[in-house]
Amino acid sequence: MAESCRIIALGGLGEVGKNMTVYECGDDIVVVDAGLAFPRDEHLGVDLVLPDFSYLRDRASAIRAVILTHGHEDHVGSLPYLLREVGVPEVWATRLTLGLIKSKLDEHGLLRSVELREADPDGPPAELGVFRAEFVRVAHSIPDSVAIVLDTPGGTILHTGDYKMDHTPVDGLRTDVGRLAEIGNRGIDLFLGDSTNAERPGVTGSERLVGEAFRQLIPPRTGRILVASFASNVHRMQQAIDVAVEVGRKVCVVGRSMRKNVNIARNLGYIDVPDETLIRPNELDEYAPGDVMILCTGSQGEPLSALVRIAYGDHPAIKVEAGDTVIISAKPVPGNELRVHDAINQLARDGAEVLHQENAPVHVSGHGNAEELRTMLALVRPKTVMPVHGEFRMLAAHARLAVEGGIPENRILIAENGSVVELDESGAYLTDNVESGVTFVDGLGVGDVQDVALRDRRHLSEDGVLIIVATLGGSNGSVGRPELIARGFAEPGEPLLDEMRAEAERVLDDLVHEHVTEIKLLQEHLHDGLGQLIYDRTGRRPMILPVVVEV
Ligand SMILES: [Zn+2]
Ligand SMILES: [Zn+2]
Repeated sequence: MAESCRIIALGGLGEVGKNMTVYECGDDIVVVDAGLAFPRDEHLGVDLVLPDFSYLRDRASAIRAVILTHGHEDHVGSLPYLLREVGVPEVWATRLTLGLIKSKLDEHGLLRSVELREADPDGPPAELGVFRAEFVRVAHSIPDSVAIVLDTPGGTILHTGDYKMDHTPVDGLRTDVGRLAEIGNRGIDLFLGDSTNAERPGVTGSERLVGEAFRQLIPPRTGRILVASFASNVHRMQQAIDVAVEVGRKVCVVGRSMRKNVNIARNLGYIDVPDETLIRPNELDEYAPGDVMILCTGSQGEPLSALVRIAYGDHPAIKVEAGDTVIISAKPVPGNELRVHDAINQLARDGAEVLHQENAPVHVSGHGNAEELRTMLALVRPKTVMPVHGEFRMLAAHARLAVEGGIPENRILIAENGSVVELDESGAYLTDNVESGVTFVDGLGVGDVQDVALRDRRHLSEDGVLIIVATLGGSNGSVGRPELIARGFAEPGEPLLDEMRAEAERVLDDLVHEHVTEIKLLQEHLHDGLGQLIYDRTGRRPMILPVVVEV
């Protein structure tokens, strides 16, 4: 029997977020990345969105390892849930990624449930059942990112992870183009490549450009400097810290996730900051505004983040005022633009000058643009290309780049979450589909938000709610005058309210007359009668909650 390998993306295709790819060969499975997505507006009130683990749950005993390409939430965020629900013997990741997930797993009480193994780009490959995994350094917006070369009985696969071709990265660790070319010479049968910036022409700026901008913008300023970025952007924070040290400002790190990451990165030697430079938020009062720099979370305008609380005068230790400068050193993730704009407006109203990517070069992307993707394809020269990590338009743009680079059109696979790709000596083909939905994390529970709950929330937000409370009187079976509470579709004092009350009374009287005293039936009739009336008058279908109580 010819050996083949099945490749199944459970997340990350047709979306930016929750990356997770299953590689399956006989009785062995290796999973690359276990990410999560942040909810979009249609997932009202849900905290997190995870891939659907059903496919893995059914094959848990086959899983040899999870390999993580880097420490971003869209690649590691669902790991605790995967470990708890499915169980995995080993997790392989580079040193910083391991440091970040250790703290995450510790918070979830899962540290002892899995063996953590260090992936070393300079070390020997990992042997995982029938698979052999090599790690190749790539530059990205978090240190210690790797691409993975997976040798499988069906052929050799390159999974790029997130990357850019930064030739002057802050840590000097460039994308290892020499190694990629070597791997290309060995022959890559299937290439799964990051498509995030495939639509953008040219080359992404080097991370070092942001450092240069900091060096120009920060020294002449005399007020407080606040720098908001992603808590995982270790190099960005390092570059801000370097300028603070040069100009003699103390640095205060604010926001739980940022403090945590700075500690982890410092302990592992990924951030270099002198002890005497760091101060605590409660020490800020002892320094003049011009002597401090505040690194904070909130670059996405997250409602409870440090920057947003500061902007709205709601932070216990920090305020901004005229003369201060706020640098938003990140790009809003699609969907967060309005919140970021609100935060910028509020900071401006407080008197601060706000620098962001539209008025100053204070951010560069962590993903390669079109020319970099072309370079990657030219180095690797894969037989088959499968664009991953991106919305459909980004995958399509990546596919076009591959065709322009000489990959035959029939050697490009545009797959979706749940698509099954089979790779064997004859090539790689889309063959099947598996279940690949989403799982919601709502508060503390996983997967307990059914579609019904989401439908109800949408319903409430769009059409409002009507609560009808009626009492069913003891021995004589009479009904009291119903109380109505309406929100979202009828203004107080509107004639509709009186009309609804009259209708509720009529419905109840009719039923009691017919000796119907079954509470459930009374509630159903109230629901239907008032629903019809409201729809006739307003064209809306608010959620109607009839409550009939026996007294
Ligand atoms: Zn990333
Ligand atoms: Zn990513």
